[in-house]
Amino acid sequence: MPVFQESISLKPFNTFRIDSKADRFVEIKRESDLKAVFDGVDRYTQEILVLGGGSNMLFTKDFKGLVIKISIPGISYVENGDEVIVTAGAGVVWNDLVTFCVHHDFAGLENLTLIPGTVGASPIQNIGAYGVELKDVFSSCTAFEIATGDIKKFTYSDCNFGYRESVFKNKLKGKYIITSVNFTLNKKATIRTQYGAIAAELERRNIKQPSIADVSMVVAAIRVSKLPDPSTIGNAGSFFKNPVIDKKQFEVLFAKFPEVVHYPAPAEKIKLAAGWLIEQCGFKGKVVGQTGTWKNQALVLVNHGYASGQEVYDFSEQIIRAVHAKFNVALNREVNIF
Ligand code: FAD
Ligand code: NAP
Repeated sequence: MPVFQESISLKPFNTFRIDSKADRFVEIKRESDLKAVFDGVDRYTQEILVLGGGSNMLFTKDFKGLVIKISIPGISYVENGDEVIVTAGAGVVWNDLVTFCVHHDFAGLENLTLIPGTVGASPIQNIGAYGVELKDVFSSCTAFEIATGDIKKFTYSDCNFGYRESVFKNKLKGKYIITSVNFTLNKKATIRTQYGAIAAELERRNIKQPSIADVSMVVAAIRVSKLPDPSTIGNAGSFFKNPVIDKKQFEVLFAKFPEVVHYPAPAEKIKLAAGWLIEQCGFKGKVVGQTGTWKNQALVLVNHGYASGQEVYDFSEQIIRAVHAKFNVALNREVNIF
């Protein structure tokens, strides 16, 4: 039976290390525990927060409801020719799954090495890095419907994946708890090195024909050199999404700032590098009280030790205003605010 705890600090459960309190907290280790939990709470009046690794969250106040931490374990797989269907429990640490797959030579997840958090959260914002997104390997997931207690299967097309988006962040926000995810991987690797610093780093190490283990190792090395380690400095990765704008807006921007870092996006749109926009406004490595931006990547907001969530949020407002004033571009937060 799941054990409920009262009035607990969420500091160990969020990578920003914000010291907010939750009125009630329960950890789930099996899908069947969810039924038991919801038999004991009023699912219509009780505020619910589903928590994975807390690596994409900013708590700006205490949480006056029930936090459900998902710790459902387990990785299994079925091979079918070159294809492998890997199933992982929602509580599996994402990078443990990546390591498992790289170790077994199951290709597809290697570019997503070292993304913090859990498997269950991976479809929520369609996690992505180095030119690969969850949607590229997603087969289906199972989820517990909070209103009914039913278990539902979501296929690829049910999930409406977009750039750091899915149906779970939009139409179905707060309605389902993902309990496991199925991935379609392949024993014949398609090596993807044309993104960010991967090719340059492979070249530097004199690796001419990289394996998926090489790609994973290099991605890990780049990430460690560039990003703050949440175990030593609180952060939730990229605080804002890269803005995607239409051609007309881009032409106006480009005429004024021809050096603007940009990439083509689907539907003839243009993706701007939010980190570059923020850096150009003078924010890279800036320290404001207990918060600031990371010295190697202005897109990452950090907690220098004792920041409150509100302090980080207010600082993010300053950044949004500065980027809008200089570039007339709207930044939207990627991190979930509670
Ligand atoms: P949490 O932060 O616990 O939750 C995130 C959201 O998902 C919340 O709304 C929560 O309610 C919901 N949720 C969590 N679990 C479930 C579930 N089982 N069912 C239903 N809803 C659920 N993200 C990227 O996309 N790419 C990156 O390269 C990347 N790099 C990062 C680097 C660093 C240093 C950090 C700190 C973060 C980075 N992130 C990145 C963001 C983050 O790691 C991902 O968004 C990750 O998927 C969050 O997982 P989590 O388990 O920590 O989710
Ligand atoms: P980077 O390599 O310095 O690149 C800056 C931005 O340019 C990235 O955000 C990336 O967009 C985009 N980009 C780079 N090469 C591209 C290409 N060939 N085609 C299209 N877009 C390209 O970025 P970084 O900060 O070191 O991050 C590296 C990767 O890890 C990125 O994919 C990034 O998304 C991911 N990451 C994500 C988080 C998070 O919390 N979400 C945190 C750290 C790193 P995309 O972001 O769209 O890929």
